[in-house]
Amino acid sequence: MKLVRFSHRNSVFNGVLEGTEITVNGPEGSSWTVRLDEVTLLAPVQPSKVVSVGLNYSNHAQELGMDIPSEPVIFLKPPSAVIGPGKDIIYPRVSSRVDYEAELAVVIKDKTKDIQPEDADKHIAGYTCMNDVTARDIQKKDIQWTRAKSFDTFAPLGPWVETTLDPADLRICSYLNGELRQDSSTAEFIFNIPELVSFVSRMMTLLPGDVISTGTPPNVGCMEPGDEIVVEIEGIGKLCNHVRAEGLS
Ligand code: MG
Repeated sequence: MKLVRFSHRNSVFNGVLEGTEITVNGPEGSSWTVRLDEVTLLAPVQPSKVVSVGLNYSNHAQELGMDIPSEPVIFLKPPSAVIGPGKDIIYPRVSSRVDYEAELAVVIKDKTKDIQPEDADKHIAGYTCMNDVTARDIQKKDIQWTRAKSFDTFAPLGPWVETTLDPADLRICSYLNGELRQDSSTAEFIFNIPELVSFVSRMMTLLPGDVISTGTPPNVGCMEPGDEIVVEIEGIGKLCNHVRAEGLS
């Protein structure tokens, strides 16, 4: 099932997408439908936090010549960085190198704390695509990653949450202006999703709609204003955004 959040006639709704039709359930068993092409999709969730994993593909670690980490390395992206499909990624004036990172995002279903990996599935609402946009020059300059990862618009999310999906071996790709750039599989994960959800839950309480972004495969690269960047994950779909220079409309 695909869960969408969208705006239509100046209101925001949650619905279920089947084919090209969205069904919205109203009060007392009522429901109505609208066509997908009549609405504007929004980020499918509004997380209280986005927890991102720094290095989680064994082939990416190899590419970087880095040791396989013994524990996940994580960082936070603020909810103010989240944008939906079709929204512009704003290229900040203070950066001269902004990269895409295609990532599988786990969406948390309910309040989750101190769980074991074997219980993680019960706390997952589904999966969506994320672009962990990064100001690479700032990441290298600052010791902390907060500034590089946290600009407004640096967490495109969507297009919907797929609730029925086995994430163990999904093809994950990015396309810059239609050209294939990243092409890997979640089978390359160093830490699998149950391990990641359990690891994060031992530290912080996860809330409904929170996102754990599971790291990016090899071949990250830079974007320029005017570029189109697509993250595509097998079984979910495509998340497409364009890049725009700060201050230009
Ligand atoms: Mg990343």
